[in-house]
Amino acid sequence: MGKYNFETADFNSELWEQLRGAYGNIQEDIAPLMADTPEVPDNEKTLSPYASFESDYMIAFDNILQQLSHQMSFYNASYIALPYLANAFNYWYEKDDFVMQVLFLVNTGVIVSTDNEDNHQYNNDITDTIPENIMESYNQSILFFKEKAEEFLINRLDMLKQFEPDTVSYICISLLALVGKREHSFVLLLENFSQCPVVCENCSFFLEEIELDDDIENPEINEELNSMITPAPSVIGEWDKKSLDNTYMWLSNVLHIAGSDYDAKKLSYFYGTFTCPECGTKSGPVIDVCMKALMGC
Ligand SMILES: [Zn+2]
Repeated sequence: MGKYNFETADFNSELWEQLRGAYGNIQEDIAPLMADTPEVPDNEKTLSPYASFESDYMIAFDNILQQLSHQMSFYNASYIALPYLANAFNYWYEKDDFVMQVLFLVNTGVIVSTDNEDNHQYNNDITDTIPENIMESYNQSILFFKEKAEEFLINRLDMLKQFEPDTVSYICISLLALVGKREHSFVLLLENFSQCPVVCENCSFFLEEIELDDDIENPEINEELNSMITPAPSVIGEWDKKSLDNTYMWLSNVLHIAGSDYDAKKLSYFYGTFTCPECGTKSGPVIDVCMKALMGC
């Protein structure tokens, strides 16, 4: 696939039994995606959480997401699934089907966000036992998706305006797993882009949840938020629309361009500074503090 070199595991491989998703073997869910010229009805090309699917393709596609990201855990079946998803994505890419590309990039982003240290410390981590060629193909297919996500964010940005602001935010924080730190995407997805747990590295002060939604419009009503988090200064209007190196910079501006200023403001809290209410130690960005709190550090 262009400069990326990945192969899909054989359908007769015993790996399908070994590398399982949340509900077991994922082979049956992968198979419909491999049809030569699949068709999906337009009304099923949706990111709505209330969507119901009737086509074999979308039922399988939806199952794969459930199998590989149930409760935002990591599942070993992802190692074998990602190259297949990359091939299936390529069909829609070559067909220039914009919405199907978005669906694949979003779901892949969610799946990749779960492949992080927090999940690996709790799960039965068998990373070391994965055959080298499978691991290499998995990593190559993630790089392939990264390139496509970057292309999407830089060249197709205006197309995002066709979605509702909440959907745009979900798309962006999922794509973040592919183009930026997957841990940041994981925190925002896991906490519904509305809460964050915090921990102080100095004195171990811990708070399971600071609420951001609604309260950022009136920070004075949320004493905890007001006293503990200093939002990062706004960078709206400062992005060159090319560089994706600075997550806070591009993500703030993409949210703004797509009409999601409220979420851009919320993001300034996640990329702000945490001040411990017990000992006064400052740390940040808040989103890294959240990840440490999730990991129980
Ligand atoms: Zn402290």
